[in-house]
Amino acid sequence: MHPILEPGAMLGVLGGGQLGAMFTGAARRMGYRVAIWDPDPDAPAHRVADQSFSTPFADHDTRDRFVDTVQAITLEWENIPAELCQWLEQYRTLRPSSAVLKILQDRLTQKEFLSSCSLPVPDFAEVESEHQLHQVISRLGLPLICKTARSGYDGKGQWLIRQSSDIPQFERILTTSSSRVRWIAEQFVTFVRELSVLVVRSASGETCVYPVVENRHEQGILRDSVVPASISSSDAKAARELSVRAVAELHGIGIFCIELFQAKDGRLLINEIAPRPHNSGHYTLDACTVSQFEQQVRVICGLPLGEVRLLSPAVMVNLLGDEVTAVLSGERGQEIFSTSGASVHLYGKRVIRPGRKMGHVTFTAAESETAVASAQQFLSRVRKPPSVIPSIG
Ligand code: ADP
Ligand code: MG
Repeated sequence: MHPILEPGAMLGVLGGGQLGAMFTGAARRMGYRVAIWDPDPDAPAHRVADQSFSTPFADHDTRDRFVDTVQAITLEWENIPAELCQWLEQYRTLRPSSAVLKILQDRLTQKEFLSSCSLPVPDFAEVESEHQLHQVISRLGLPLICKTARSGYDGKGQWLIRQSSDIPQFERILTTSSSRVRWIAEQFVTFVRELSVLVVRSASGETCVYPVVENRHEQGILRDSVVPASISSSDAKAARELSVRAVAELHGIGIFCIELFQAKDGRLLINEIAPRPHNSGHYTLDACTVSQFEQQVRVICGLPLGEVRLLSPAVMVNLLGDEVTAVLSGERGQEIFSTSGASVHLYGKRVIRPGRKMGHVTFTAAESETAVASAQQFLSRVRKPPSVIPSIG
């Protein structure tokens, strides 16, 4: 038997971004209290939490107070310092565990782990020097995508080497980056589509899987997600099975998002695994019986997992950077609020930066085509022609 945390308990969250805020919304609706720890006092989840800690993660005094305050801990961001997670885990249940985090925090360790379990990933190699870069290029070919092994998100810390003439620029980045930075080079997959699958796994190994989502990224940032994905039922089955197997191999407890490429030749390859709710799962708030955030609450509290029924086809569109102003002000703002089937979510971030995730809108409709058409229409209104050169180099 695993202990059950009943409503009224205080749940701790490491990280206070929009994922933490949406977790808090789900937890409070279910009668729980939430303590957020995020060093950024402006992090959106602080506004909705019962208790807030905004000192650096290295602060031992806060660490002691946090552990005394909460009865179980989860996270909304995988790059929480491993030492902190290990320390906290001595006293409180941490979902996902520090062992799982250790594997997933580092793209190299993650891909090595998946390969060792015979799970399919794009060909990859570590790159430590210019000499080795050339060896990797001759083995994997071009184009090649080079990523920092740690801390990247939304395409940050990634460089695409399309052709030989791009090599010198990356060589400079490689040689000037700190010796502590590890680099992974991956074969650039010419995919037909990107997919993602949310898998929830409890301490007793009970598992549930959400429908397969189809994602479109622009410059490494998620643009929109369509569910159900327009793939055959056998491909959907294969994607779900692969995702469940990956989480089982990890002995993961919590909610995980498996990002996949469907390659031109039909193969499914795992791109990466996030040990937390995911942007591509935001549609679950408006289109499923139980959202990804409620599942996270259920897992850490030891409650039975929720049903994952899709109530309606859905398309989620991210509001990036100043696109958010299109739904905040004037007639255009009114328009989205009067669009049937549109649910607007704004994260309340004070500072708008290019490409920053400021909110999202989910479009639901009886037919997938209707949701897709509404989302496309909305997107063509809010987006500006890309004026910002992305971080992907
Ligand atoms: P992040 O942590 O920033 O999400 P990802 O590895 O998922 O990092 O990369 C972001 C996006 O960049 C992916 O969703 C995909 O569109 C593209 N990408 C990343 N790696 C590859 C690859 N090996 N081949 C093709 N596209 C890739
Ligand atoms: Mg990703």
